[in-house]
Formats: sequence, structure tokens, C-alpha cells
Amino acid sequence: KKNLRAADPCVTDHSIQVRGARVHNLKNVDVDLPRDALVVFTGISGSGKSSLAFGTLFAESQRRYLDSVSPYARRLIDQVDEPDVDSIEGLPPAVALQQQRGTPSVRSSVGSVTTISNGLRMLYSRAGEYPAGQEILYADAFSPNTPEGACPTCSGIGRVFEVTEKLLVPDDSKTISERTIAAWPPAFQGKNLARILTTLGYDIDIPWHKLPKETRDWILFTDETPTVPVYSEYNIEQVRAAIEKEEKPSYMGTYVSAKNFILHSFATTQSPLTKKRVSQFMQISVCPDCHGKKLKKESLSVKFAGLDIGELSQLTLTEVALKLQDAANKNPDHDKSNREKSIVAQRIASDILSRVEALTMLGLGYLSLERTTPTLSPGELQRLRLATQIRSQLFGVVYVLDEPSAGLHPADTQALLSALDELITAGNSVFVVEHDVSVIRHADWIVDVGPDAGTHGGKVIYSGPVAGLREVTDSHTAQYLFNSAAKVKQNAREPKAWLKLAGVERNNLQGLAVEFPLGVMTTVTGVSGSGKSSLVSQALVELIYEALGQKLTVDAPTGEADLLEQESEIPTGGRIIAGMDDVKRLVTVDQKAIGRTPRSNLATYTGLFDHVRKLFASTPEAKARRYNAGRFSFNTVKGRCPNCEGLGFVMVELLFLPSVYSPCQVCHGQRYNEQTLEITYRGKNIAEVLALTVEAAYEFFSDEPAILRALNALLQVGLGYLRLGQPATELSGGEAQRIKLATELQRIQRGDTLYVLDEPTTGLHPKDVKMLMSQLNGLVDAGNTVIMVEHDMQVASNSDWVIDIGPGAGDEGGQIVAQGSPAEVAKSKVSRTAPFLLAACE
Ligand code: ADP
Ligand code: ADP
Ligand code: ZN
Ligand code: ZN
Repeated sequence: KKNLRAADPCVTDHSIQVRGARVHNLKNVDVDLPRDALVVFTGISGSGKSSLAFGTLFAESQRRYLDSVSPYARRLIDQVDEPDVDSIEGLPPAVALQQQRGTPSVRSSVGSVTTISNGLRMLYSRAGEYPAGQEILYADAFSPNTPEGACPTCSGIGRVFEVTEKLLVPDDSKTISERTIAAWPPAFQGKNLARILTTLGYDIDIPWHKLPKETRDWILFTDETPTVPVYSEYNIEQVRAAIEKEEKPSYMGTYVSAKNFILHSFATTQSPLTKKRVSQFMQISVCPDCHGKKLKKESLSVKFAGLDIGELSQLTLTEVALKLQDAANKNPDHDKSNREKSIVAQRIASDILSRVEALTMLGLGYLSLERTTPTLSPGELQRLRLATQIRSQLFGVVYVLDEPSAGLHPADTQALLSALDELITAGNSVFVVEHDVSVIRHADWIVDVGPDAGTHGGKVIYSGPVAGLREVTDSHTAQYLFNSAAKVKQNAREPKAWLKLAGVERNNLQGLAVEFPLGVMTTVTGVSGSGKSSLVSQALVELIYEALGQKLTVDAPTGEADLLEQESEIPTGGRIIAGMDDVKRLVTVDQKAIGRTPRSNLATYTGLFDHVRKLFASTPEAKARRYNAGRFSFNTVKGRCPNCEGLGFVMVELLFLPSVYSPCQVCHGQRYNEQTLEITYRGKNIAEVLALTVEAAYEFFSDEPAILRALNALLQVGLGYLRLGQPATELSGGEAQRIKLATELQRIQRGDTLYVLDEPTTGLHPKDVKMLMSQLNGLVDAGNTVIMVEHDMQVASNSDWVIDIGPGAGDEGGQIVAQGSPAEVAKSKVSRTAPFLLAACE
């Protein structure tokens, strides 16, 4: 056991003193925290840990920092919600390494987030091997995001868009009138284009394949945009006659080829659904000139260790480290011919090397520099930032982290703890919100928040060294830390059938054969990067969707960035060879489960808001004013506040800083216009109803069975403390996941659904995990199948079946190391999961 670094904050002046914190659910919290120590905030989901660590401590530090920046910034900050707290003494500047909830842009990659790419560009510019006669290039020329570096063919994207006849016209036996050109817009617009073609003299009533090639090419690909008279109801002869007689046309219409329509819509549409629709007619392929490396030819001709910068960026970090080692360890004096260049190479290479090593230490050696951030899990992204901070040589700051163990195999947790210790040794304080018992045990100081969630939480029930928590009887954390309250061993269930996959190819999986038992609960384990998500969340999900003919639904708005990512992925290889008779439906429940926009909330997502709006529309006053149910949506023009367009807040753009939101001055966050708010149902207006918690709403709507059913499902998953109108953006990943589960629980169970979950315990306290497990067990008991990726050994040991992937990460993984009942897998001699599983099974 390491030395206790923390001094008692009560007897030294070296402490942070929080007084009267009231952010979100916090109940006037007073707490003293040690500096230069690892402080872990614990408590069940929704208890108020993040509100204290991020909402209060970090927010206040950020506010003070901004305050000191400039009067201009201050003016803007005044409009921003200050954390509601009386005072905080002794607070150092804070750096938050929070798990990103939105999708970062496609242009950010492992290399850019860690700034390693900058170093590499410098290395190639100053120490690269240039072909004879080529001028030295500036570092910018090695970045695809600059005009100096970008490949001119693809503008530095690495991919090009193409439309082909096959894509635009999937069934060439149909005629234009029968909408053979599938890519054309639906409804009137499509009809309009067909009429224009009639005027232009094309026969729209013969099968597509009978048209001459020249005609087909013109219709699909021309860049001409003729404007011609259109006669709505005429056939080709009648049009011809009408033009001759100079008859007055119905209107004038302009032709746009299918190709230009598709490319234009893709580039300009705001609607994710249009984007999705249009993208199916485009083929996205690797740029023929740079082969996806995004750089112009001159830049790619410069080599280091025999590789161009694109090739180096494709290697895993572990491989990059090997390539750099030679240059970093070389003694420049041994290079007589070009000593100066050698010195530069040595310096830059060893700087990059130490950055790369900080990443491999945190178990991220399997990532490549070019890997884009949207394809990383939030936990991976946070560890990337953490590794970057270790190298930043800052001291005297407090780092605030959000569940850094997320996505980390128990075997890798030790490295994480060492990284945190390193930050503290360098003179910093580290505050983490965490559920993992091994991280909690490592803490110098624990702040346990609770006792329960939402309005039933928000108090600090313990603040002190770990051991002292044992005495705190109302702490859920104490029960799991010191007694194993989590054990709920079920009798293992027998599979009703087997789902068999063969030849699975995805990322690091190469021709894998795998069998999942149906009608039981399976956990897929393995170290980070071993291929669990590739197998379960990607390959399995895609193959099943394909087999069911079920389309992946667009849950969250799809930006161009996401779409490029999706389309560029190599599709899953493999096939299902047995078991589909017992799978009729697939449901994936991830933590991004519900649309992350402020326009979506608990009430809209679960569908209960439809019933509520109907109730409001049925009141006598609403009827008298002819307000229909639509009026009571904050997404309709008639009902919502015109100033904030129903958002309740407005965005304030800050120069050089992330934008911030400030409450709408007109509706004060109520989202509706005054007239709408004049309608009340049992004494409450619609905004007041949205402000009710699920628990309070259960009383309020006590004689509305349809609403009660939805509320009851939410209560069952422990979300009674959430407000109905709480925007999806304010929900934690764990809360979002449970809302999705609750909507599933409301459904009638037919016992043929496959539920796929990726790390469902992220953000969940062991007590919440127990609740989640009982829900999942309920689904399985109803005959359904649950397959999940999980690091939590409590979950794995309580499953019916475990499949361990590995043995290592990346190329060293991708195999099935062990499979069987938890007890069987725990006995494996080769599985890195086995020792941890064994400990949990005992
Ligand atoms: P924890 O981190 O312990 O899971 P949080 O601090 O995130 O809990 O949440 C505590 C309570 O505050 C919960 O009821 C949560 O729904 C609520 N809450 C969280 N974020 C916001 C927000 N931005 N606005 C209002 N309420 C919030
Ligand atoms: P796990 O879920 O076990 O942590 P993953 O399935 O995410 O592992 O990753 C397995 C391997 O596939 C790793 O080498 C990872 O870098 C790679 N990989 C995963 N997703 C992608 C992706 N979208 N693009 C490229 N490589 C990926
Ligand atoms: Zn290119
Ligand atoms: Zn408003």
C-alpha cells in the first residue's frame, strides 16, 4: 500500500473549502478537500457527484479564469450561469478531462488530439529524407488541413464521391414515369423533372434499358440546366403540338441531372434524413491520387525510417515507437556526414517518443495516429487526453476526470493509477468521479455523495480517507466496498439454440468463427482493443440487421463527419450460419441511445409526452381557443417561445472558447410562448408539467393509465428523480441508456429479441449495476437474449456464458481465448481476464 499523501484538510491551510454548493441537486453542501492528492467522488448514479466535481469545482475555476482574462470575456460570462455556491477557498486552476458527450469533428484524430502529429510534421520537414533535388518543405506541407499540404484531387479528405448509373437507377426495367431513377427527389419534384424531360423530347414511358446510352448519360450526368416550358398533364405528342402552337405552359421548369441533384443535396442539406437518403446513391471511394493519405505528392515523397508520413500514421503507436527508437537513441556524433540534421532528428524523435510512450502505458498502444476520434470510445478519448496532460508539465492545477476506468480492462487499471499518481507527484491535485472499486481503494480521500439519486441525494455523506467510510451506514458505496453486497448468483440458464457466425472480418478480427447461445445472458470480455466491440457492436449487429432486413435507424442527427466515417469503414465480412429462426428483432442499447439534442427529452423519447399534450388539448380552454395537441410541443412555431425557438436558452459564442448557453430572457427557460402557458391542466401549465420529476408525475397523472405505464417503467429503472422535460443533453450516458431500456420494458415481450449492449455499466455505481442486471435478467427470463461487452467482473460472473477475446490488443487480439460458463473461463490459463473473473466468482 502506497504512502498516504493527503494531509487532513481540516488541520492544514492546504485545502479547498467549498461552502454552500447548490448546483443541480446539491443541498447546500459544505466540504473540505485535500490538495496534491487523489480525491475520488463516489455515489450512485444521479446522486450529484458530477454536480460537485464538474458543476461546482471545475465550473467555478473556469469562471475565475475567464474572469481574469479580459473585461470583454467577463461581460459575456456574466450572462452565463455561475455555479450556485456561496464560496470556494483555496481552489487552484482546474483542467477537466471529461468524457466527450457530443461527436467531435472528423478532422480530429489520435495524432491531432495528442499533438503528436505536429511533432511528426516537424520531424518530416526538418529531418526527413527528401528525393534528390526536391526543396525542403515547411511543416505545414505535411498537414492535409492546409492548402500547402492537401491533396488537390480530394482536397485533403482522402476520399472521393462518385455516382454511377447502377446506383442512380437500381431497376432498369422500369420507366421514368415509374420512377426508375430512384435517386430523384420524391413527390412533386420528381414528377417535375419527368415533365421537363417530356418537353425536352424524351420518352418517359419506355423501360430505362431501352433508352440509348447517350440519352441515359445526359439524363443522369449532364451539367446543363435548361429551363423549358412545362405542360403538366400532356404526353410527349401533346407537348410537341403545344410548343408548336406556342400555347401557354403550366409553368417554366429547370432541369438538374440526377448526379448534380445528389451531390448538391449532400453538400447543402441540413436534414440528417435527406443526407442519409442521398448518400445511398453515392459511392465513396479512396482517392486515386493520394490513396487516402490526404497529402499532395511532394509531401508524400519525403520519408522517415523508410515510410512517408501517411504510412507512419497508419501504424499502431507501439509500431511508431519502434520506428522512432533508432533516431531517438542515435548519437549524433556518429553521423559525420550530416551532424546537424542528426541532432534535430534525435531531439524531435525523442520528444515524440516520450509522448507515444505515455499513450502505450495507458493501454492505447493499439491505436494508430490517423484513427479519427469519432471511432474511439469516450473512455479511450479521455485516456488520450490524460496521456497528453502527463507530458504537459503543468503543476499546481487540479485535474477533474470523469470515470477514467471506463473501457479499461481490470488488468490495465494499474497503469491508469500510475498515470494519476504521476500527475500528483508533479505537484497537481486529481479529482475523479469513479465507480471502479480498485480506483476507489487507491484514493487518498473519498467524497461519498448521496445517499440516493436526484432530490433524494445531493448531500456529502462522507468525506475522508477510504477506511473511514466503513462506519457510514447509509452509504451504498460502503456496502459494496467492504461487504460484497453485489452477489446475486442466479442459476445458469440453458441456451435454447445457438447463433453461429463464420468468417467474421472486421478491424482486427480475421475470419473468426463464433457461437453465441440464445435465450441466455452472455458477456464478452477481453483487454481494451482486443476486438470485443468489433465483434459485438459492429460485426454481430450488422450481420443481424442485414439478415432481418432491418435498417439501422438514424437516432441522432448524422453530420457529414459521421457519414464519411461510416461510409469509409470496410463492411463486415462474414455470415450467419445458424440461429436466425430464434431472432426476430434486434435492439442495441448504447449510452448514446437517445438523440443527444436539447429538443429531445425523457417525455418525448418514451412517447408519454404525446398523451400529455392530448390532455392539454382536451381542456375546455384549449378547445375554446382551438389549440390542438401540436400547440403544446416546444418544437412547433405556434406553441414555442419565438426568441429561443423553444430551446429555453440561447447560445453565446465566445472567441477562442467553447460556446456557452444562457437562459432565454423572454421565456426564462420555459420554452413556450405566453398564450400556450395560459392553458392549465389541474392547475399546472405545460412547462410546469415538464418540470415535474417522474415520481411527482406519477402522483399527478394517477388516473391516466397510458401515462402511468411509461412512468412506471422509468421508476423501475431507478429514474424517478429525473424531470420529464430534462433535455437529453443534460442526461448522463447511464441515464440515457436506462431510458432506452425503460422504453423496451414497456413493450410487450415476445421472447425473440436480441439485445446488444456495449459496456452498459459505464457511469453506474455497483448498486445501479445490480438494478441493471435485474432488468436484463427480466428480459432474458422472458425468453430474449442479451449479449454485452463488459469489463465489470460482477456482471461477467453473473452471466450464463462468457466469451473472452484476446489474448492481447490490435493484431495480438481478435481470437477467442476462452469461452464457457464464468467458472470455466475463470480457470483458463491463457486468458488475461481469468484471474479477475476467478476473484469475482469466489
Ligand atoms: P452523478 O454524477 O452522481 O451521476 P449528477 O451530478 O450528474 O449525478 O446529477 C445529479 C442530479 O442533477 C440528477 O438528478 C441529474 O439529473 C441532475 N442534473 C444533472 N445535470 C443537470 C443539468 N445540466 N441541469 C439540471 N439538472 C441536472
Ligand atoms: P475492444 O472493444 O475490445 O476494446 P475494438 O473492437 O474496439 O476492441 O478494437 C479492436 C481493434 O480494431 C483495435 O486494434 C482497434 O484499434 C481497431 N478498431 C476498432 N474500431 C475501429 C475503427 N472504427 N476503425 C479502425 N480500427 C478500428
Ligand atoms: Zn487525395
Ligand atoms: Zn425562450
